[in-house]
Amino acid sequence: MTPVDKSTVVKALHDMSAYLQIKGENAFKTRAYELAAERISSLTEDLAVLVAEKRLTTLPGIGEGLASKIEDLVTHGKMAALEELKAAYPPKILELMTVQDLGPKKAKALFEQLGVGSIDELEKACQDGRVQALKGFGKKTEEKLLAGIALARRTMAAGGRKRLGDVEDQAQAVLAWVKQAPGVIRAELGGSVRRMRETVADVDVIASAPDAAAVFKHFLTFPQIAQTIGSGESKTSVRLKETDLQVDFRVLPDEDFASALHHFTGSKAHHIKLRGLAQDKGLTISEWGVFRMGGKSETPAKKGKAKHEGAEEKLPIVEEKDLYALLGMQFVPPELREDWGEIEAALAQTLPRDLVTLGDIRGNVHAHTTWSDGRDSLEAMALAAKALGYTYLTITEHSQSANYAGGLKLDRMKAQWDEIDAVQEKVKGLTLLKGIESDILEDGSLDYPDAVLEQLDVVIGSIHQRYSQDEDATTKRVLRAFDNPHLHIWGHPSGRLLLKREAVPLRIEEILDKAAKKGITIEVNGCPERMDLSAENVRKALERGIKLVLSTDAHSVGELKTHLPYAVATARRGWARTGDVVNTKDVKGFRAAIQRG
Ligand SMILES: [Zn+2]
Ligand SMILES: [Zn+2]
Repeated sequence: MTPVDKSTVVKALHDMSAYLQIKGENAFKTRAYELAAERISSLTEDLAVLVAEKRLTTLPGIGEGLASKIEDLVTHGKMAALEELKAAYPPKILELMTVQDLGPKKAKALFEQLGVGSIDELEKACQDGRVQALKGFGKKTEEKLLAGIALARRTMAAGGRKRLGDVEDQAQAVLAWVKQAPGVIRAELGGSVRRMRETVADVDVIASAPDAAAVFKHFLTFPQIAQTIGSGESKTSVRLKETDLQVDFRVLPDEDFASALHHFTGSKAHHIKLRGLAQDKGLTISEWGVFRMGGKSETPAKKGKAKHEGAEEKLPIVEEKDLYALLGMQFVPPELREDWGEIEAALAQTLPRDLVTLGDIRGNVHAHTTWSDGRDSLEAMALAAKALGYTYLTITEHSQSANYAGGLKLDRMKAQWDEIDAVQEKVKGLTLLKGIESDILEDGSLDYPDAVLEQLDVVIGSIHQRYSQDEDATTKRVLRAFDNPHLHIWGHPSGRLLLKREAVPLRIEEILDKAAKKGITIEVNGCPERMDLSAENVRKALERGIKLVLSTDAHSVGELKTHLPYAVATARRGWARTGDVVNTKDVKGFRAAIQRG
């Protein structure tokens, strides 16, 4: 076991990049750290082995300089270059980068000219009017920063909730660790991680074993534990390094496992309603199991220990489905346990039985390559998509107005088509579709003339530049885009970045009505910072018969794989069936399904 693991290295590389940006290093240099972080994070090989065998430089984008810094950290527990940077700035300076609309250039100016080194100091400077006096800031920026500070504070106040995508790997690592403990029979993640909520407050892990003490002993040797915050006979809570995630770990006898797993999966609202139903049947449900009140029992108990009149009889719950069966219901998958009508549907036996699954997805949709702001070449993306078992990949770079992301001007688009054709020649068994992710411009028009758009297989329209429009203007902008007959898919509809940027203000019902009428397909973007369309709005879209596409918005080969589960989970939370999703079809079916009208 090395003293330092992958996530520590990834975080250090991100921090290096952030400090260097504030320092004002050129984008090429800071980007190199981001790329390296991406490489390390998607590494399938053991990092310690790579370091020990001095093979870091065999990874694309990692040169001698980066390799020695990573080796430094892995072998000595510290990256000297990062420590130097940390010492040169106030301890909370990176906090500034969590404020919406505050990029590294502004952070640098604020620090150098006003000595601002934390969110609190920034707020004070805004309130004193010192920020608007700076060159390049102004009154409007100051107002935006104050709004951004408020959002950042709300995020912190939201009980320190974290994005699911930021903690899931670590949660899975804990689970894998627990499964190796002596005597463990079953182990699962519970809580909002199991329900695949976009953000989570903590992680529940539930295991069954005859000897809880031995399992806890093993658990506490998990290398990423920073602190033990409580331990009892059946529960231990710890905080993890890097993510500061709290893990509540419970060990029970195997006969109590399913009830406990169900209990600690939640949601509270789902459970409250279930308990009401149970009561009507003379049952009580708790984390300890399902009990029948002896006096109210209609049929004599066949199983369980004999009890005297009026006492509780414990009913066997081997799996969660037994609990639902006792209540006369269909099994409710974890993602649906929100009291959004799933209990009524499960009682009526009308809960969808064919919810979309990851295995149903046949085409990988919405990919960026080095032609715009992607990190891997077209050929690398095609080969990776094929290796993952997909039968088609849609290449959808940014459009020409997107200077910030290397959007394709017309001449480059033509050149890109030639390369797509050339790669298609080489990569058999995967169909490459020519597409674009076109900005929806301020007036709702798309970013190319119709004569160009009509030549593309897939046109995604997305809002990237916000132009500070209000709800009415943004709504009309989207409605107008739907009038363009060449638009197939509305991309990452709300524009939210979880815990970072609010959704654009939209009259969503009005927009969904028009999408249904016009035959627009709506994207559920699987980027873990987006998970957009939200599950709530997926429900609303499906009620209107709107088709969905579950997309990756991949900017690297790694994201072709890692993003999709979040799109699938969000769609499932919104009750999407396989047939509602256009990229569960083969390439011919997909192309037909996204056509308008
Ligand atoms: Zn986009
Ligand atoms: Zn995109």
